[in-house]
Amino acid sequence: MEISFKGKRALVTGAGKGIGRATARALARYGANVTAVTRTQSDLDSLVHECPSITPVCVDLADWGATDDALKNIGPIELLINNAACAKLQPFLEVTPDQFDQSFTVNVKAVLHVSQATVFVWQVVAHGMIARGSGGSIVNVSSQASQCALKNHTVYCATKGALDMLTKVMALELGPHQIRVNSVNPTVVMTEMGRRGWSNPEKAKTMTSRIPLGRFAEVDEVVNSILFLLSDKSTMTNGVALPVDGGFLAC
Ligand code: NAP
Repeated sequence: MEISFKGKRALVTGAGKGIGRATARALARYGANVTAVTRTQSDLDSLVHECPSITPVCVDLADWGATDDALKNIGPIELLINNAACAKLQPFLEVTPDQFDQSFTVNVKAVLHVSQATVFVWQVVAHGMIARGSGGSIVNVSSQASQCALKNHTVYCATKGALDMLTKVMALELGPHQIRVNSVNPTVVMTEMGRRGWSNPEKAKTMTSRIPLGRFAEVDEVVNSILFLLSDKSTMTNGVALPVDGGFLAC
């Protein structure tokens, strides 16, 4: 299957590490003009060193005002990947207000905010895009944790559940603007985030034993699903949560 993003403008959040970084690199490889957003400058420096066509934007997405400032001159974006998130694990009875607020601010509120900021520009140019027959596509990076309770994941599960519903409402309201909105919902991936929660082999086994394919997902397996949902190979797919979980949610 040939996929090309030649001439498309893409914005990837959380592009400094893990799935976001690999997505930014893949989009650039397939011809997109990529803006990479994250909060650690050294990650952006090394990303641009590897991929000089990428435009870096350093901002903490938890800061609404700073995000507005950082994104105000990005211009129209046709492909948006809301990938940045944090995962701090705590038993239910030990969840703190700070953890709750920080997680919802980054995992849900920033998705709403960055999407509003980019779609506002889209609306201005929407007629032009419809005339050219090309709309926009947004992929929110959710998780299997949105649909299945995981021990010590109270807040993370709640943010991803909220993200799945946000995805559906965005699909409903942005569809008429020819902007599709979907999510990918991976199982564990051994990025920095994945390693924090699942490096212990005993604990990892409790999860892999519940995945019919018997293993965690690779970063590229998640990236490929993101690229599919962004591409013109999925032009009638809108409002779905696509598991990338080896069958975990099917059981
Ligand atoms: P990761 O390796 O921790 O990378 C996350 C990236 O997001 C980092 O570059 C991080 O920057 C950035 N980021 C976090 N908070 C930010 C903020 N407030 N402002 C700007 N950038 C911010 O995570 P990952 O595993 O690639 O996860 C990517 C997505 O996949 C997340 O939505 C996650 O929930 C989802 N997911 C992951 C797994 C897994 O097992 N890894 C499974 C299912 C779903 P800093 O490093 O500078 O903080």
